[in-house]
Amino acid sequence: MVMKITYATMSVDNKELNEAYEASVEAVRDRIGQTHGVIVNGESRVDRDLYEELSPIDQDIVVGRYAQATIQDVDDAIAAAKAFAPEWEAWGWERRRDLMLRAADIMDEHTFELAALMSFEIGKSRLESLGDVAETVEFFRYYARQIAKNDGYVTELNALGENEVNTSVLRPFGVWVVISPFNFPMALAGGPSIGALITGNTVVMKPSNTGALMALEFYRVMQEAGLPDGALHILTGRGVEIGDHLTHHDDIDGITFTGSYPVGMNLLRTANDKRPKPVSCEMGGKNPVVVTRSADLDVASEGIIRGAFGLSGQKCSATSRVYVQDGVYEELVDKLVAATETVTVGDPFDVKTFMGPVIDSGVVERFRRAVDEVQDNGGTILAGGNVLKGDGLDKGFYVEPTLATAPLDSWVWTEELFMPFVLVASVSSLEEGIALSNDTEFGLTAGLFSNDDDEIESWFNRIEAGVTYVNRAAGATTGAWPDIQSFGGWKGSGTSGSGGGGPWYLRQFLREQSRTLIRG
Ligand code: NAD
Repeated sequence: MVMKITYATMSVDNKELNEAYEASVEAVRDRIGQTHGVIVNGESRVDRDLYEELSPIDQDIVVGRYAQATIQDVDDAIAAAKAFAPEWEAWGWERRRDLMLRAADIMDEHTFELAALMSFEIGKSRLESLGDVAETVEFFRYYARQIAKNDGYVTELNALGENEVNTSVLRPFGVWVVISPFNFPMALAGGPSIGALITGNTVVMKPSNTGALMALEFYRVMQEAGLPDGALHILTGRGVEIGDHLTHHDDIDGITFTGSYPVGMNLLRTANDKRPKPVSCEMGGKNPVVVTRSADLDVASEGIIRGAFGLSGQKCSATSRVYVQDGVYEELVDKLVAATETVTVGDPFDVKTFMGPVIDSGVVERFRRAVDEVQDNGGTILAGGNVLKGDGLDKGFYVEPTLATAPLDSWVWTEELFMPFVLVASVSSLEEGIALSNDTEFGLTAGLFSNDDDEIESWFNRIEAGVTYVNRAAGATTGAWPDIQSFGGWKGSGTSGSGGGGPWYLRQFLREQSRTLIRG
């Protein structure tokens, strides 16, 4: 039987799964390198400037050629989304829910080919790619359950007189903009879009230009499920060129941005210049782990390695800072060094690979700068530290998983690095570990390894992060799953306050209308 994949799946020793994935890698090869238009009101517009997306696995592989959306495309997409919004709301939540469930089944059926395409596009290992698609399927089903559970968000209120009927109705805002990052090109393009659509908003999506293929595959699934043309529009192209026009347009009613802190903060500062609307920004992380003397160090080591190096450290939830209580520091560092040295790096299509490439040459440059910073300013590279070449890796972007120490005031401790690079330091107490953990502008995920109930409770109550894990070998700070862990950041990591895949997520796409009716 093909096993069910989540991000907590620890290994791929399932024959059927491996065969299905490998067959799909071959089957999708002829879908790589094609030319794609922007999608406006069901029309594919290809006669535009094209940009090429090259695979991080090997720059000779052209993943696709995409139309660069124009300002006119942005205007047209928003106009079509606005025109269709009343009809989409009038569909009612049950009909929209049924469509989302159809889309879930279609995506589920195509999981392996979508995962194979994603490995080409982003360089993800099979488990990471399969997880990304499976998570999106789960978003469809979970949000479908949530909207039903809340009865479409219609609630009877009290009445002051016999003839009076009072109702609270949560209604869609209208046209919702979704801007997605490269690292979860299906789940983070799909998740917010599903949330906005199922609640009755129409969506204009701008995916990352590294990730456009997955966004277009998401669109294809929605079309097959029967989504009307006016409901979803896909504007491929570089963010800076169309992003400003899209996010400052008069006729949009809400934005969900997932991406880096600088771009998100700029959006928060400026998107409401003309008129107010909800702007939800889910941004970066600098996710800390504390390990105390009471911890099981083998569990801690496994959780830290998976958290730091899964998806080559390119998760917003990646484990990036580890504070270890003295007394167990040396022993844990020895385990971490040994484990780091066994992490397999290389071609993500190889079943033995745990860590594929990083996304582009910019990350390799950042990696070199971080290694130099450590070496020049009093730190130590404990494991890794090299850019990998040879053995078929020359045409892609490969770096070693890296474990390091550095003075606590170095920028490597404070800036989001977004690569397989984790820092470790010794602390005298849980208190100090929590204080250092919280001393950051970010607050996305955090982990603790401890077997002391008082420590665990104290940590849960004082750690400043939206997603928290204790003693998790499957990923010290990573691997949230819909309906298992809501996923959203605090502080500089996120503004919505209600995590994706969680019970409060859909609420942000709706505004309340109270309806008082007096019958004569
Ligand atoms: P990015 O900020 O470079 O790009 C994100 C998206 O914004 C892309 O679609 C990009 O084209 C677009 N964009 C760029 N400039 C824009 C502008 N001026 N106006 C509008 N849109 C613009 O991020 P990335 O490199 O794709 O993704 C990595 C970042 O995303 C990391 O910081 C990571 O932590 C974060 N992230 C956060 C979460 C979360 O849930 N908090 C999840 C995944 C990734």
